[in-house]
Amino acid sequence: MSKSDELNSQLYVAASQVQKNAHAPYSNFKVGAAVLSDDGKIYAGCNVENAAYPEGMCAEGSAIAMMVANGGQAIEQICIIGDGEGLVTPCGGCRQKIREFAKADTPVFICGADGLRETFTLAQLLPHSFGPDHLTQDNLTNTENDK
Ligand code: ZN
Repeated sequence: MSKSDELNSQLYVAASQVQKNAHAPYSNFKVGAAVLSDDGKIYAGCNVENAAYPEGMCAEGSAIAMMVANGGQAIEQICIIGDGEGLVTPCGGCRQKIREFAKADTPVFICGADGLRETFTLAQLLPHSFGPDHLTQDNLTNTENDK
């Protein structure tokens, strides 16, 4: 692991603090997430549940929305913290949301109240993924040439 792959303590603190604000009256499972953006800033988000269950938002998606709203364009690192003994990894949908702004080797730090539990790369969590690079003009042009 390179230095940039080490968990930044500020990122952990941001995820941990925002976890406390999660709106999780139905699951009672609070999650916090924080991203280190390409602008050098940290953006955090928590899960926001809803009485109409499918309308709830995950912590990772909330953090990404904060990043984008504030002008960040890429995820350098992401830290996720949840309760319990298990690894609180991003759900399938959030893996794709992270993919939009991250690289294959972007570190995803999975934490608990006790600190860092495991580090994955995005490619480990979402192998053979589909992303923005599939929609580049070159790829689209090649598709048309194949017809
Ligand atoms: Zn999710």
